[in-house]
Amino acid sequence: MSATLPVKNRQLYIDGAWCDSSTGKKLGVINPATEETIAEVSFGNRADAARAVAAASAALPAWMKLTAYDRAKVLKKTADLMRERADALARTMTMEQGKPLVEAKGEVMHSADTFEWFAEEGKRAYGQVIPQTNPAKRHMTIKHPVGVVGAIGPWNFPITLQARKIAPALAAGCTIVCKPASQTPLSLIGVFECLIDAGLPKGVANMVIGSANEISDEFMQNEAVRKISFTGSTAVGKQLMKQAADQVKRLSLELGGHAPFIVFPDADPEVVAKAAVLGKFRNNGQVCISPSRFFVHKDIEKRFTEVAVAEAKNLKLGNGLDEGVVVGPMFEKKALEGTQALIDDAKGKGAKILTGGGKSTRFERGYFFEPTVLSGLSQDARILTDEPFAPVMPVLDFSKLDDVIAAANNTKYGLAAYVFTNDLSVAWRMAEGLEAGIIGLNDPVPATPQCPFGGMKESGMGRELAHEGLEAYLETKYVSMMLRG
Ligand code: NAP
Repeated sequence: MSATLPVKNRQLYIDGAWCDSSTGKKLGVINPATEETIAEVSFGNRADAARAVAAASAALPAWMKLTAYDRAKVLKKTADLMRERADALARTMTMEQGKPLVEAKGEVMHSADTFEWFAEEGKRAYGQVIPQTNPAKRHMTIKHPVGVVGAIGPWNFPITLQARKIAPALAAGCTIVCKPASQTPLSLIGVFECLIDAGLPKGVANMVIGSANEISDEFMQNEAVRKISFTGSTAVGKQLMKQAADQVKRLSLELGGHAPFIVFPDADPEVVAKAAVLGKFRNNGQVCISPSRFFVHKDIEKRFTEVAVAEAKNLKLGNGLDEGVVVGPMFEKKALEGTQALIDDAKGKGAKILTGGGKSTRFERGYFFEPTVLSGLSQDARILTDEPFAPVMPVLDFSKLDDVIAAANNTKYGLAAYVFTNDLSVAWRMAEGLEAGIIGLNDPVPATPQCPFGGMKESGMGRELAHEGLEAYLETKYVSMMLRG
């Protein structure tokens, strides 16, 4: 029997009202654990996106004129409501995305913290007074909201990755139109229910579920949209970068990653292997900062791998709503096929499968993949270059610091990297040498609202969270004044 879905609305939210799409088209939302359709939601098109942009434009002048303190009240209240409704929001997310309830609840709480943090940080959109060289002049900068924002997010963290856009945009005085991933619209509907109950003025935040191409075409071609904030694949990010050039739109891009996880010989291989398994199989490895290439010093590689395999075998796989489950289904059938292809390629090139290796045969329905550990990888295995986004842990060994830095940096991505060592000099050399926007030193889960999140190289442009995440929604205006007399 299908479980009850807590979030009630099923429509788009435009100009302060829930509404059907202009075509009346609907989209089925699938539970990846059961393959059942759990809801039908309105599926919008370009006309709906245009209506939402018009609403955001109309709401902009009044919203930007409010003080940051008044805007903060809506954001703070949203955070409170998200915490109150955390169980319902988490359940909704588990049902449409698959992650276990405990992870879903963690995501809701992290997102509530993000709303609260930006409620406060909006009050610190300071300008500067700059010393003059001409005695008759005075120079200063003031901050100004960018304007209407188009926000496009993925399915893997359907609340957090929209919260990182909505909260700073609204705190800065911008208005926004959000497009969730088509597989996971219900979680964002739940967030909008909180925003609305928190007193969101009409038009300030809008949500259009619908065709990615049509909505993004409207964002790109409508002159009222001044900024696009995108989280998703590098391929789509590159396309958006080209399109944004036509109107020189501001762009924030949070794209793919392929994080190295490097373990030095002074680290405890058992403790680190346990941390590695937790970090790796969280959300089935469908995490942009998921560790995906494990470089372990040759002196401890054997023990590390034994413990990792034992831990991976013990992970309880199942429907994320069920008690004790720590790994849910992958989010769609295509993801299972892609993961299998990467493993088959590695195997064909000599890799050994130490545990897992394929779709779980224990479930009649659902997209369950056995947590997998591989060793003996050949340098040309595709899994070492293609972002896996999957519950697969490829273990390699190394012996010299410089070699492991070179191997870790040998990717087009540069989002996150992890280093485990107790040697401060090694830790510092690694932090300086690794090409990654986020570095976890003995820390497998580094993201937090007050610290910057984003990538180098093809992992993106700009930073979310932290003060940088607010700046991304502000223009700097320079004002020069000549004094009389
Ligand atoms: P995706 O295909 O790029 O989709 C992400 C979002 O973009 C969805 O809302 C999707 O809409 C939309 N989209 C798809 N094609 C588009 C187009 N041509 N123009 C505009 N929007 C378009 O990404 P994904 O494969 O679902 O997500 C996984 C990727 O996201 C991974 O590479 C992962 O590393 C990355 N990611 C990065 C971060 C970060 O912070 N750096 C965080 C999470 C995920 P539909 O759903 O309607 O197709």
